[in-house]
Amino acid sequence: MVARDVADWRRLATRTIMSGGDGDAKRRATIQKARPRAGEPRRVLVTGGAGFVGSHLVDALLARGDHVLVLDNFFTGSHRNIERHLREDAPKGRFEVIRHDVVEPFLVEIDEVYHLACPASPIHYKFNPVKTIKTNVVGTLNALGLAKRCKAKFLLTSTSEVYGDPLEHPQKESYWGNVNPIGERACYDEGKRCAETLAFDYHREHGLDIRVARIFNTYGPRMAMDDGRVVSNFVAQALEGKPMTIYGDGTQTRSFQYVSDLVAGLMALMDNDVGFIGPVNLGNPGEFTMLELAEKVRAVVDPEAKIVFCENTADDPSRRKPDISLAREKLGWEPTVKLEDGLRMMVDDFRERIEERAAR
Ligand code: NAD
Ligand code: UDP
Repeated sequence: MVARDVADWRRLATRTIMSGGDGDAKRRATIQKARPRAGEPRRVLVTGGAGFVGSHLVDALLARGDHVLVLDNFFTGSHRNIERHLREDAPKGRFEVIRHDVVEPFLVEIDEVYHLACPASPIHYKFNPVKTIKTNVVGTLNALGLAKRCKAKFLLTSTSEVYGDPLEHPQKESYWGNVNPIGERACYDEGKRCAETLAFDYHREHGLDIRVARIFNTYGPRMAMDDGRVVSNFVAQALEGKPMTIYGDGTQTRSFQYVSDLVAGLMALMDNDVGFIGPVNLGNPGEFTMLELAEKVRAVVDPEAKIVFCENTADDPSRRKPDISLAREKLGWEPTVKLEDGLRMMVDDFRERIEERAAR
């Protein structure tokens, strides 16, 4: 008999076991949802946990009492982002860091995996494009394999880049995208598209409990000051009295989400108990041109800040804005932090780091 969908397959597999049928179906049918060990905190693996988003997620997980393992190769992540959890007053015994590359297999005992490991800034993911693909494909296979072995829940941080230079606006999850498969951004875009495919295949083939988030441009404290993304560039440049670099004519648009909103969305997606797996857009639907963003940064940092126009990069998406109806409906989630307010919090952090650097 042939299964038509996952529910059908589970029914068939169970029936096979009852009748002492084939071993393969028996093995697959034993996969159950992960449950925290009785009396012990939930063990959560955050790959890429020393990075910008990962470190904020780690803070939130530790704050609610989880045991957190960070696995990171520190390519773009930093010790500064997580070191306070290793100090004296740290949540003892509930925080561990493993220096490891997700491209190599790894074994740990966990109940949930938030899989973030991957450089997110275009200048970083284009630095070694083949490694970026390996991270997205082999790294995601390794993380999925681990989740399967541990019967853990698995959440993938995918990206709005799966929509490429979108022909539909705003972007809904049902849109299949417009990606140049041989362009300079493809190592990231196609890598993430393949990672989504792998997650869904593990779900269909092995019954793995997956979640897929498509994250739109996110900003906030702890972004690497030299990571080349537009918000970090503009804020650092304005604070250091340098002109803000606008690529192209500055009419291209993005929608900027503050990092705490994203973390709340990721946790709502992982925790929802209605079995909603996504893919789901997590982003702030406010849409700004890069010229408008420069004005916002001027208003917060320095009204006299200058701008300079530079050549744009290849395949730069011209418009991007999430449709977040699905996240609102399924997760009751929506962003709450306005761009002006988020920029102020980010500027405080950048100022502190610039002063620290100057004092060294
Ligand atoms: P980031 O570069 O600050 O963090 C990525 C982390 O992954 C870093 O700590 C880095 O050292 C680690 N890493 C990279 N390659 C690795 C490897 N092979 N093995 C182990 N660790 C590795 O980026 P971020 O902004 O925090 O993004 C986190 C995740 O969210 C990424 O998967 C990214 O694609 C996704 N995302 C982010 C945004 C955004 O605007 N920040 C938008 C869309 C998607
Ligand atoms: N950009 C810019 N100046 C910069 C960096 C980026 O004008 O110093 C533009 C870039 O061309 C793109 C947008 O800002 O149109 C967002 O770029 P970013 O690298 O932050 O993220 P992307 O959404 O392209 O992944």
